[in-house]
Amino acid sequence: MPVCQSCKHTWGWWETVKSSFAVQQGMTCPYCKSTQYPTSRSRKVSSGLVFLTLFIVFAFNFVWGPSIAAVIAFLIALPVYLALYPIYLTLSNQEEPLF
Ligand SMILES: [Zn+2]
Repeated sequence: MPVCQSCKHTWGWWETVKSSFAVQQGMTCPYCKSTQYPTSRSRKVSSGLVFLTLFIVFAFNFVWGPSIAAVIAFLIALPVYLALYPIYLTLSNQEEPLF
């Protein structure tokens, strides 16, 4: 679970998922209200999971043709992604460049 780098509080699963849907760049800590940013490693893992999901959905479409299976794969992948996100997310006080 992510730990705020300002106040060292561990964010809960729901707080993390809720913060990740924020429109602004950073995520606001629910305890100290400071802005926290996902580390470049977290963003790379996140991008990798999205890429993997898209690859699986495209592979489904390629093998079996456009079908409801792709939609089902996406509907399965979304909660898995949301369940995993708080586990691998680490926070930083500054926004890190991706590369
Ligand atoms: Zn905090």
